Amino acid sequence: MQPLFPLAVPLIPIAGNDHGFPVRRIYCVARNYAEHAREMGGSGREAPFFFSKPADAVLAVPAAAVGRMAYPPMTADLHHELEMVVAIGRGGRNIDAATALDHVFGYAVGLDMTRRDLQADLKKLGRPWDVAKGFDQSAPIGAIQPAAVIGHPQRGVIRLEVNGVERQHGDLADMIWSVAEIVATLSEFYALQAGDLVFTGTPAGVGPVQRGDRLDGSVAGVGSLALTIE
Ligand code: MN
Repeated sequence: MQPLFPLAVPLIPIAGNDHGFPVRRIYCVARNYAEHAREMGGSGREAPFFFSKPADAVLAVPAAAVGRMAYPPMTADLHHELEMVVAIGRGGRNIDAATALDHVFGYAVGLDMTRRDLQADLKKLGRPWDVAKGFDQSAPIGAIQPAAVIGHPQRGVIRLEVNGVERQHGDLADMIWSVAEIVATLSEFYALQAGDLVFTGTPAGVGPVQRGDRLDGSVAGVGSLALTIE
């Protein structure tokens, strides 16, 4: 059977490779840095948890380019969450943490953009987060750096500036669940496949952005991501 109409698979540039990384699913980890968990009203000692975004929420930003994100509708409180993103290159179920990094193709710098006002309302009502997290262009992401080249970053500064002023600053070593633990845990819930992305959580300092703002994020050993809000 042929598709009734063509449907594009989102592609993310890969450093040093002419191929794009095709995106299958986007999983996200919530509250994976204790200080951020506290700023969101938690104790910082609860276990992180998962949510997801649709694959076509990706806004791919090539290396050295500045991405352009349209301020989304239905919010007056669009927040930035800078995160390291894991790109899965080999799938599996019930993956052991000891071998989980073998399933990682590479890493990128991403933003888990969030309609915080909607999320706050949804939390109060006990409703799903989809409209707060899974909207169009809600997942800006820079070029993927292959682990074969950069290795598997486990410490180093993760930070975000808005208009040249630092808003978020953390260290990968402060993640509650490590990348290996995230991949292992996620694979108990889902059969992971090549093409899956995992946003690994954001350090403290999340906050609002406005039209005209310039965001500059970086993760030591991975790279950077530049974005303007239009
Ligand atoms: Mn997040």
